[in-house]
Amino acid sequence: MTYQLTVGLEVHVELKTKTKMFCGCANDPFDSKPNINVCPVCYGLPGSLPLLNKEAIRLTVELGQALNGQIAENTFWARKNYFYPDLPKGYQISQSTSPLVKQARIEIDGVKHQIQRIHLEEDAGKSVHQADQSASRVNFNRAGVPLMEMVTEPDFHSAEDAKRFCQEIQRIVRALGISDADMEKGQMRCEANISIAPSNWQLATSKETEGQKPEARSQKLGTKVEVKNINSFRAVEKAITYEYERQTELLDKGESVIHETRTWDSIASKTVSMRSKETSADYRYFPEPDLPIVEIEVGAVKSAQLPEDRRRALESIGTPAAIAQSLVDKQLDSRVLVINNREPELTKEAAHLMLESTAFASLNLEDQTKLLSAKKSGGWTKDTLTVAMKEIGNGKTAEEVIATYSEKFVLEPIIVEVITANQAAVNDYTSGKENALHFLVGQVMAKTKGKANINEVRTELKDILGQ
Ligand SMILES: [Zn+2]
Repeated sequence: MTYQLTVGLEVHVELKTKTKMFCGCANDPFDSKPNINVCPVCYGLPGSLPLLNKEAIRLTVELGQALNGQIAENTFWARKNYFYPDLPKGYQISQSTSPLVKQARIEIDGVKHQIQRIHLEEDAGKSVHQADQSASRVNFNRAGVPLMEMVTEPDFHSAEDAKRFCQEIQRIVRALGISDADMEKGQMRCEANISIAPSNWQLATSKETEGQKPEARSQKLGTKVEVKNINSFRAVEKAITYEYERQTELLDKGESVIHETRTWDSIASKTVSMRSKETSADYRYFPEPDLPIVEIEVGAVKSAQLPEDRRRALESIGTPAAIAQSLVDKQLDSRVLVINNREPELTKEAAHLMLESTAFASLNLEDQTKLLSAKKSGGWTKDTLTVAMKEIGNGKTAEEVIATYSEKFVLEPIIVEVITANQAAVNDYTSGKENALHFLVGQVMAKTKGKANINEVRTELKDILGQ
């Protein structure tokens, strides 16, 4: 029997705010010292009260807008109760029935993927187990870090599509400056709800089930298994493929798939059963009494541009697709667009240099434009540009550097003059005496009052002398 795979994704992203979600502690879970970015709110001590982080809400609304989602006019917070050693309050402040964003979507290569909801919550602390298992400790630096959760409709039917969705989410949140979304550091984490159903079942499309209750939707799907702790893009693909094969084998044997939570074991490359699945009733959600209802004024948040649109903008000015993609990934695209606006003839070189040279990419936009312009009008070589960038890095201004290297215009006649006047040294050099070149370089440098670039003088001299 053949089965159709259906996957829904839950993607968690830690937001890049200065402070935590409900207190003023630094949002720095990677601080080298444990339990340093903590306060009574983080520890959930009696009498402490949470305070909302406006920036976290703004970033989430910005993402919601970029993904054409419906932004809630008002939203409230809920307590999700469960016991875990890294959760000092015994509950997590989250959003259950009132997510900040609903019905968003992402288009990847022409295929639309529906995002059911995007909501905000707080991250938990981190349990640290001693290698010899003699002790376990908890680090609360991460407790209370703003965590955004994105839940998709079950509309992926291949592991590859699910992986590409996660990659696109990473691109988007990076491009919008919402998160660094480094999966290795746990800044972005994926969970997949995976089910299979006989291919002859009429599978629901997300369009048909839009607005329906989840129960109605799941009737058309097989029993789903939730896989947690997927910590790389490769693992997204592997975990889904593994589950597809495991569930197929069970059904083929006439057994049934158990509704449960499993974890991805990246070393063994397989999923392992964790526990039977909690339902939302197990979490005993109730409204958070210590936080107010938040009213959102959508117009107050600027709308951001998606990576897809930004790639297109670059392509529309003639940037090849692969280069456009890299520029957007590295967030250097807007610079290229500005340069294109100012001096279109510099665009191509700007795009290449941004990617090729970290020295160039790290200059400010003004200096980049000035140097490119000087290079073009002054006929600079790539070496000259490299030296010029280095000098700016060493503290010179772009104007000073350009003034120096613009001397290059008159370099050639000076060299010719020096060669003519020092024929003996020229003969020495051409007959193999390297030292004679130093003398000639010295003569040129003296004539330019030290303003010329010594490397360039040497190169030009060698060129002219045919060595
Ligand atoms: Zn705190």
